[in-house]
Amino acid sequence: MLKVSSLTARRKELNNCLTNENFAFPAEMLAFLRIRSVALPAGNIRVLSSKLLSTKNGTDSIGSRSESTKAHYDIIIGGGGLVGTTLAAALSSNPTLADKKVLLLEGAPEFKGFDPAGPYQNRVSAINKNSIELFKSIDAWSHIEAARYKPVKQMQVWESNTDALIQFQHDNFASDVACIIENDLILDAVYAKVKDAPNVEIQNKARIQCVRLPKDSQSQLSELELQDGRTFSCDLLIGADGANSVVRKEMGVDVFSLNYERMGLVATLDLGDDACDNSVAWQRFLPTGPVALLPLTDRLSSLVWSTTNEQAKKLQCLPPNEFVDALNEAFCRQYPRVELADKAVQALNTFFGHNATQHQVQYPPKVCGVKEKSRATFPLGFLHASSYVCSGAALVGDAAHRIHPLAGQGVNLGFSDVRYLVECLAAGAYAGFKLGDKQHLIKYERKCLKKNVPIMLGVHGLHTLYSTDFSPVVLFRSLGLQLTQNLPPIKNLFMRGAMGQ
Ligand SMILES: Cc1cc2nc3c(=O)[nH]c(=O)nc-3n(C[C@H](O)[C@H](O)[C@H](O)COP(=O)(O)OP(=O)(O)OC[C@H]3O[C@@H](n4cnc5c(N)ncnc54)[C@H](O)[C@@H]3O)c2cc1C
Repeated sequence: MLKVSSLTARRKELNNCLTNENFAFPAEMLAFLRIRSVALPAGNIRVLSSKLLSTKNGTDSIGSRSESTKAHYDIIIGGGGLVGTTLAAALSSNPTLADKKVLLLEGAPEFKGFDPAGPYQNRVSAINKNSIELFKSIDAWSHIEAARYKPVKQMQVWESNTDALIQFQHDNFASDVACIIENDLILDAVYAKVKDAPNVEIQNKARIQCVRLPKDSQSQLSELELQDGRTFSCDLLIGADGANSVVRKEMGVDVFSLNYERMGLVATLDLGDDACDNSVAWQRFLPTGPVALLPLTDRLSSLVWSTTNEQAKKLQCLPPNEFVDALNEAFCRQYPRVELADKAVQALNTFFGHNATQHQVQYPPKVCGVKEKSRATFPLGFLHASSYVCSGAALVGDAAHRIHPLAGQGVNLGFSDVRYLVECLAAGAYAGFKLGDKQHLIKYERKCLKKNVPIMLGVHGLHTLYSTDFSPVVLFRSLGLQLTQNLPPIKNLFMRGAMGQ
């Protein structure tokens, strides 16, 4: 108990406390600090805060429990979305990491599962070959295959101010361009693996509130506290907690982010009986952003319409028949032509010896209806963390990078992070590195940056190029698109990148 008789004595006693290494802060001390008449020099405040943050005397900054009462795991994954849950499944199925105790913390209530006989969902992803290989390697692909998905055999991308277009076909690559899979089905497949894994525990309604990493303390462990006050420690904390990642914020890495002031409007569409086998993905660049149709079944497609916030809100509220009219118009409407760009595209086709019909825009099947309550909007933006790792922590998925959905790459990059991280951790464990060793985790970061940065810059560049109808830019992008269409080696290079090969 602190005894104080005068203001001077109070100050003296407090200063003594602050310089005494073995001093533990009792509740009285904290109360004492609140006495306004005690003016502390700024330096002492810093010493005091670092003592309060230190666990040396059994007083935690994360919760009030001591080290020993915190549940400890080798690896904690913060965020059980598509990427976090896939990571948990991949860790559990890696033989070198099979003895590691893993905890998956998800802020939302328990996942309710997926009904393959139920209505199609509005959140779907174009999944590339690499991601499918990952699902196969963790034995989750058979679950998806047994349910439902749609292979994309062909893709056409074209722009509205000229006839410039690019077409990709599955025959050129001896595999499908992509597979369209509902997000909840992917989650269901990887969740089933995690539930069966003896070394992985899942906790739902477990929202991470604050994190403390080894860089801030003398402890070798990463620690975290949930909103409900529970505390945990681990050797490696992995942030898979999406674009607003709490883990990333605590890592203190620089982040480059842009709000595109655009929304992605999604919906499930009925194409009627005329869609034939509906295996083509369509994307048209409009002045307000790209509108894309992704095949789901012979007569259903999924919509991703990126547009201004204002138009997205308006489209979401339109009566179904008016919405369908607006959508059909978006795919067919003639926008003001940029004559010079049009002529340049024709000249380019002639130069390559192609006649007009060979490179004529094909139009998607007419949309007949929109499924009730399937329309939803999502804000679009760009984000990249300057570093994906630090001592005791690593980032995966949207926590590290977020991109525009126009190339269908976001979650595919997240799945490739999963592959690289599991490979890195397994190699490190084999070689005797600690799980949270930054020197080793850096290898994971290097691989990811090499893969992710060019794709992110490319997608951001496309978004920027197609956000204007300034004639010189239209000319430049139309020629670029048509040149790519006419030069198979370049086209294949792009396509291989998009397919994750
Ligand atoms: C309209 C649209 C279409 C898209 N289409 C495609 C596509 O075709 N192909 C493609 O590859 N990508 C696509 N994407 C991108 C893709 O959806 C994302 O990249 C992907 O969902 C990111 O997954 P994630 O698990 O990293 O993050 P998230 O999906 O954001 O998951 C994060 C998880 O962490 C949890 N969480 C958050 N904070 C906390 C906390 N503090 N404590 C505990 N848990 C927490 C959340 O509840 C959530 O479950 C699209 C995106 C949009 C918006």
